[in-house]
Amino acid sequence: MANYDPKSLKAEEFIHDGEIRDTIAYAMAHKDDKELIDRLIEKARPVKTEDGWNCAGLSHREAAVLLACDDPETVERIKSLAEEIKLRFYGNRIVMFAPLYLSNYCVNGCVYCPYHLKNKHIARKKLTQEEIRAEVIALQDMGHKRLAIEAGEDPKNNPIEYILESIRTIYSINHKNGAIRRVNVNIAATTVENYRKLKEAGIGTYILFQETYHKESYLKLHPTGPKHDYDYHTEAMDRAMEGGIDDVGLGVLFGLENYMYEFVGLMMHAEHLEAVHGVGPHTISVPRLKRADDIDPDEFDNSFPDDMFEKLIACIRIAVPYTGMIISTRESQEVRGRALRLGISQISGASRTSVGGYTEEERPHDSEQFDVSDQRTLDEVVRWLMEMGHIPSFCTACYREGRTGDRFMSLCKTGQIVNCCHPNALMTLSEYLEDYASPETKEIGYKMVEKEYERITNEKVKAIARQNIEDIKASNRRDFRF
Ligand code: SAM
Repeated sequence: MANYDPKSLKAEEFIHDGEIRDTIAYAMAHKDDKELIDRLIEKARPVKTEDGWNCAGLSHREAAVLLACDDPETVERIKSLAEEIKLRFYGNRIVMFAPLYLSNYCVNGCVYCPYHLKNKHIARKKLTQEEIRAEVIALQDMGHKRLAIEAGEDPKNNPIEYILESIRTIYSINHKNGAIRRVNVNIAATTVENYRKLKEAGIGTYILFQETYHKESYLKLHPTGPKHDYDYHTEAMDRAMEGGIDDVGLGVLFGLENYMYEFVGLMMHAEHLEAVHGVGPHTISVPRLKRADDIDPDEFDNSFPDDMFEKLIACIRIAVPYTGMIISTRESQEVRGRALRLGISQISGASRTSVGGYTEEERPHDSEQFDVSDQRTLDEVVRWLMEMGHIPSFCTACYREGRTGDRFMSLCKTGQIVNCCHPNALMTLSEYLEDYASPETKEIGYKMVEKEYERITNEKVKAIARQNIEDIKASNRRDFRF
């Protein structure tokens, strides 16, 4: 029997089934222990230090106790602590991105995914470089600056060379004032050598969802294909980091297995990355299983209601305060609106989850990966965010300025976000308002920019940001950043 060891590089030792089960039992036994819960809430609260604010976070055991709590008053306290942490470290900015599906050819047998090999009625498509160009222009014309590229796993149709060539194509396109400045990559687990190539191609975050941490279920849910190998999949982030990628994005496909099990696995994975590489995950995504061609989510019996989903997001926010959190258009406007307050820092907007979807007039359904719940345009999402007091940010400065891995974390910890991320958000929002927004959004946006200057504490930075925004309005000069 394997022992639990967060520092081990073996999947069964850092995601340890026995430790997960013990943690769940401990959480259930202590969920009404008011004294312990008070202590955990105090421990996780932001504290002022000499050079900024600090947040201790929680261990997987401690965080599991909060997730197990069902007393309504305690749940409210958990949610308001999550809001406090979110505002303290991420402010009111929300980073915008869009997925770009390159190919849905796939050799795996994932039973929840419409791209699975046996699905004969989904239209299989792989974009040519010319088609990628057209998709990227359509995305730039909406105002997007940051993409997450997605592809099925298929060594013949989607080899690493195809992914690398596609990344080069995406970065090379400048349509009008448009530019994709950060390409995040969500492709199947691969080798250290391939991760090194992705790093050299200038990717932002490497994202890979674990789907489920529960090994037995994982093997059943991925019955065939290379993804069947649980250990190879679970150890992928270590290979990515070995290949030089500092920013990795974790995630679970919630609904496949018991959410408590997944939550503890996710927290243990984050602790493992911190223990081995000295830096935790850059982001955590919280996708929930959705209806899709050939897929009926009701056939999986681990779905859970929205209020539980909100508590889960709040507990992730409290446990790993410096990790960004992503929510996609799998969720409705209502759910996204509530989740934003509880800790989400990045959202997608106007997504098309079909290969080639952005160049189609109507939303195509024949090659979609999942049904999109939030179908609004980017302009509508941007306006909605501002009406709720969030600043939509198109910033991509950090990794372009070399602030990846622990360097980004230290920016976060020293509270310099107000003099760096905040002005960057205002400048990139102004680019959006000038180049792509509807008149109504533009009006609301510039009122927000005017008000938000006041949060910048460094007077010199404030003056430079003001000057840059005047330049954005008066000329085609773009891409200012701190
Ligand atoms: N093929 C790559 C892999 O195997 O990791 C990644 C790309 S896949 C296009 C992106 C993610 O979509 C998967 O990791 C999975 O979590 C999610 N997904 C698959 N089917 C889904 C469904 N029916 N509803 C919601 N999300 C789904």
